[in-house]
Amino acid sequence: MKDESLKARAEDLFVVHQLKGREVCTRLGISERTFYNWKKEGEWEFDAFVTLRAGQPVFFDPNSEDKPETGDLFVDTELNGIKVKSVLQIYKEAAFARTPAEWADMAGLAEKDIAELREFSKQELGLETLEPWDVGFASEKLLQARYAFSEQEVKRYFTEDKVLGGLFHVVETLFGVRLKPDTAPVWHEDVRFFRIESPDGALIGQFYIDLYARETKRGGAWMDEAITRRRVSKGDGIQKPVAYLNCNFSRPVGGKPATFSHDDVITLFHETGHGLHHLLTQVDELGVSGIHGVEWDAVERPSQFMENYCWEWSVVQQMTAHVDTGEPLPRELFDKMLSAKNFQSGMQTVRQLEFSLFDLLLHSDFDPAGKVSVLDLLATVRREVAVIVPPEWHRFPNSFSHIFAGGYGAGYFSYKWAEVLSADCYATFEEVGNPFDPATGQRFLKEIIAAGGARPALENFRAFRGRDPQVDALLRHSGMIPA
Ligand SMILES: [Zn+2]
Repeated sequence: MKDESLKARAEDLFVVHQLKGREVCTRLGISERTFYNWKKEGEWEFDAFVTLRAGQPVFFDPNSEDKPETGDLFVDTELNGIKVKSVLQIYKEAAFARTPAEWADMAGLAEKDIAELREFSKQELGLETLEPWDVGFASEKLLQARYAFSEQEVKRYFTEDKVLGGLFHVVETLFGVRLKPDTAPVWHEDVRFFRIESPDGALIGQFYIDLYARETKRGGAWMDEAITRRRVSKGDGIQKPVAYLNCNFSRPVGGKPATFSHDDVITLFHETGHGLHHLLTQVDELGVSGIHGVEWDAVERPSQFMENYCWEWSVVQQMTAHVDTGEPLPRELFDKMLSAKNFQSGMQTVRQLEFSLFDLLLHSDFDPAGKVSVLDLLATVRREVAVIVPPEWHRFPNSFSHIFAGGYGAGYFSYKWAEVLSADCYATFEEVGNPFDPATGQRFLKEIIAAGGARPALENFRAFRGRDPQVDALLRHSGMIPA
């Protein structure tokens, strides 16, 4: 077991190339110490490995005294007609794309976005050169000019009862459960309580919903556990889970039902996804029941998965009724929402990738005392992925607090990765042509939602999907490749 994981780590970090009949390894920023440990344990044998210094390939014989320095950066290069992969290329392919062509698609879309923005800025805003600091302003102007719709108008269609009814219908149809009002002591009159039952009426779990903003309530939206499923000695031997769903939406005014923005609705579906992960678990061991023990980069999979239903026309039709006329949301308005959803998705994607790759490289092997500075590292990443490059004096790492004060160190990629996973899961339903396909819903429930942290997240995924994750669905949902 130990050997296998060592080998997997080695395979993650190394690519071995044949070079003039010799095996050559590009080093993915590992430290010498690690490399020599591996070699000592006999897991890997190399004839040489190679780095670039001042643009020139430098070979190292692992047995010689001449050793690579920690922090040497590797870039794509060609040596005697043989391509050597870079650190970045490997991360890109491993984490976000299967092939260089897929990667080129993403980069191409970002190029298209920035070209559109440059042209617009020149023609409409009189900006000859679009500087990095103009991008936010110019983008907002472009969004208004090309993709604008009234958020307020949309909000009048998402009335509370319709939205909750639509959400419950999605959950019931997808997972074959029943949601019913229930009673329990509550902490505020706004709070409502529900139960989830199996079709034969057996209790699965219960949850509170506290939808409206009010003074003294913490801001934002979140799901939290009140009670977690586990084996106990009382009753039928299983402690049933209870969850809280909290939001800060606007309450009803003027005798009319509360109305929610589409973003609110997405938030509600998102938090419900976390709630279902907690409530529908079938694991009886507390440490890995529900969301317990689920890997960081998979926790958002059920929640982001549920968001997809907010973009499903059949669902939106069912869960909208204009607050005055009772009419469902018009298709034309929905189409505008869809166009705005994918505005600059190429640029946004490469920006997330830039942050993720920088973070991974910084944490996988970076030596503060080495020759490569933090800013050099970032510049290398940007050369490969960015379409907007801040001026040299800019100190982005100093404000990248996610990775030094936000708990996301070496984990920033999880934002994008969870999107890859959830989009790919949702695509399974698209492939069978039914977002509510019962068999697929049951499989998603069994292999992913109910499985909790009892099995590695990637194994959950494979059990559901029958293969490794692919990025296509996310690209398609983001409008980056044709639907
Ligand atoms: Zn979340």
